[in-house]
Amino acid sequence: MRPQQVSASAWFVQGLSALGSPANQNFISNAGFVITRDGVVVIDALGSPALAERLLAEIRRRTDKPVTHVILTHYHADHIYGLQVFKSAGAKIIAHQAAREYLASDTARLRLEASRTELAPWIDANTRLVQPDVWLAGPTDLEVGGVQLQVRPVGPSHTPEDLAIYLPGERVLFAGDLVFRNRIPYVGQADSRHWIGALDQLLAFGATAIVPGHGPLSTEARKDMELTRDYLLHLRRVMGEAAKNMEPFDDAYKAADWSRFQAMPLFGVANRMNAYNTYLLMERETP
Ligand SMILES: [Zn+2]
Repeated sequence: MRPQQVSASAWFVQGLSALGSPANQNFISNAGFVITRDGVVVIDALGSPALAERLLAEIRRRTDKPVTHVILTHYHADHIYGLQVFKSAGAKIIAHQAAREYLASDTARLRLEASRTELAPWIDANTRLVQPDVWLAGPTDLEVGGVQLQVRPVGPSHTPEDLAIYLPGERVLFAGDLVFRNRIPYVGQADSRHWIGALDQLLAFGATAIVPGHGPLSTEARKDMELTRDYLLHLRRVMGEAAKNMEPFDDAYKAADWSRFQAMPLFGVANRMNAYNTYLLMERETP
């Protein structure tokens, strides 16, 4: 874990393009931090308490200011299992209120239970789901130690509760999982139609640097968002056609041309499920 400096105040650490495993401590997502005169704002809490401890240690090497806030781009496991570390350090946790339903769900509880086995010993009986201290309902501006942060809802896209965080003074955008780079995006229960639209919302910030939820820093916003957008468009086109013609999923999946995405990391483990979820979504969207 080596923090990379993005601008005067903004930094991030880059997770691996892989599935979470005991070998990588679930270090598969990015997290950011913004060092200000008065405190540090962390963006996403990484995928295990051990990773969050390491991130906190890296922050400590650069400033003695306290971590005052953690802003969550969304409540997926790989971005939140480190939360308790920042909570104990005294940080205020901020998330969008659309995550309430997921946090209270069996899905979240069962996901954590499964992770205690799959990601042992990094996720264990002491790892818990941490509730935010502040639920956001809409666009919110935050000023910490002279640094402006624009916190903007961009969901329902990747998740209902997606937030993007923009630093207008430094033109840095933390895009969460609306932007994936160097790997096949994780689609899950996403609203891909709205997600594609939200990418335009992100472009409108005019950021010169974008920290994605997964993968390396982007300095060419439009070009680097293409993978995510084209992949979602392709899924929707192919699966939308199949749903409309009531073609069985398996046949449509086999017949589809995946050549453009096949060589990307995580294609093998993620593509079929992404396609299937999109097939179900397109069935619902088809009148
Ligand atoms: Zn993620």
